[in-house]
Amino acid sequence: MTAALPTRTDVLVVGAGPAGLTLTTALALAGVDHVALEPKEAVAPGAKAAGVQPRTLEYLDRLGVGATLVGRGLPGAGFALREGDEELLRVSYASLDSPHPHLLLVGQDVTEQVLADRLGAVGGRLFRGYRLLSWQRTHPGVLATVAGPDGLVRTVQARFLVGADGLHSPVREGAGIAFRGDSPATLFALADVHLDLAGPPDTDTAFFLAPDGIALVSPMPDGMHRVVTSVPPGTPPPSAADVEHALATRTGGALRTARVRDVAASTTYRFQQRVASRLVDGPVALLGDAAHTHSPAGGQGMNTGIQDAADLAWRLAEIVRHGAPESLLAGYDDERRPVAEELIAFTGQLTALTTLTDPRLGTLRNTVLAAVRDVPAVTDFLAGRLSQLDIGYGADDRTGRRLPPSRFATPVDAPVWVLADPGATAVHGDRPRVVPAPELTASALVRPDGIIDAVGLTADAARERLA
Ligand SMILES: Cc1cc2nc3c(=O)[nH]c(=O)nc-3n(C[C@H](O)[C@H](O)[C@H](O)COP(=O)(O)OP(=O)(O)OC[C@H]3O[C@@H](n4cnc5c(N)ncnc54)[C@H](O)[C@@H]3O)c2cc1C
Repeated sequence: MTAALPTRTDVLVVGAGPAGLTLTTALALAGVDHVALEPKEAVAPGAKAAGVQPRTLEYLDRLGVGATLVGRGLPGAGFALREGDEELLRVSYASLDSPHPHLLLVGQDVTEQVLADRLGAVGGRLFRGYRLLSWQRTHPGVLATVAGPDGLVRTVQARFLVGADGLHSPVREGAGIAFRGDSPATLFALADVHLDLAGPPDTDTAFFLAPDGIALVSPMPDGMHRVVTSVPPGTPPPSAADVEHALATRTGGALRTARVRDVAASTTYRFQQRVASRLVDGPVALLGDAAHTHSPAGGQGMNTGIQDAADLAWRLAEIVRHGAPESLLAGYDDERRPVAEELIAFTGQLTALTTLTDPRLGTLRNTVLAAVRDVPAVTDFLAGRLSQLDIGYGADDRTGRRLPPSRFATPVDAPVWVLADPGATAVHGDRPRVVPAPELTASALVRPDGIIDAVGLTADAARERLA
């Protein structure tokens, strides 16, 4: 029997893409009363995000799905910038201080399915076949009007409304929040293909720079490759012959003579670069593509949405379960909006750099890349940035940063507050969970999203801080 849609809830999550599924799973694990709505009856297959970053996997470990997802994907070594057979720059993830020093190559549909399964297992309340029609502010919270799979219209009263409802977010539009930015003219053709290759497949995701445009080639699980090329406006989705032609004219090594055995997915897309003018508006919050959208270069979009969820979930849990003031939500906007803005600048530069059409600028770019390719500060910076491990908040260099999971003597397997304590000899307590951290010189109170909140606290002081 299908459960009836509740008429009241603390948190109404609209949308069950990767951001909404992550948030809802974290809320369920934290015991927060919630309802999630999703019009789609099941996870839809489709060629979207193909890379899960180390930082994302660290949070998914806390949700209990990191190992499952790793088991379904392929561990990519990192990124490479190439021109024909020449490697201009390589960003390896191998020396990252993370339990996941790789770019996990796996389809977005698999990531969503793994999250959806976990959500079901932890008692999450996801209502598929339900669509948000409209909403209005009430006091307190919002009143949402929802269409069910039977065509009947119902209302849900919620203390908080969260828009994880993608690019065209009805939640964002209902709140009148501006979504400023632009849509560059560049068109990309994407194909997921099985290739016959003369040599072993690469483990890097490679950007090939060529006079007639870029080609990104990434290995995928099950012997698949993703091939993305910049193409003129109006170009139709790529055929097997189009992919072979692009590989022959833009890439190098064994890829140049590769034959396409079959095309599993083929599409073209233009991207937009936009950020919501605020991520929080009273009882309403936005995350994922509803809050920001940008070039897929560097595989950041879905990952950023999942990190938004990590930040938002613990704040909602503190307010709903532990009586924290609603002003705690403002910190979500303070932390995540600058990340989205900086990401748009970063992915925009990456896209501009790799799609230069002026040959003189292309030569200049390659000369600069050759000058920095062996400078560890440059490649380490890029690895930290692309893996999202270096994303932190605030100017203080002791707090607002991620504490690498390697500092905990015992892995943290839940989205809970943790006191990493150099003096502790065993795991004890639950709020915070005290975990031995012999390598640290001072204790660190770590938020459920892995960020250091305070340093130097005793277990009693940390407990008091969370009371
Ligand atoms: C071609 C392509 C390649 C990409 N490659 C990458 C990559 O390599 N790496 C990366 O990190 N990202 C990539 N992205 C971006 C990534 O796919 C998105 O950032 C990600 O899907 C955003 O997740 P989300 O949960 O915020 O939104 P979505 O996945 O868009 O999910 C929103 C959900 O809200 C639901 N919804 C909408 N309206 C309503 C309503 N009224 N009521 C209830 N529910 C509603 C929708 O049905 C949908 O399921 C790529 C995107 C594209 C198009």
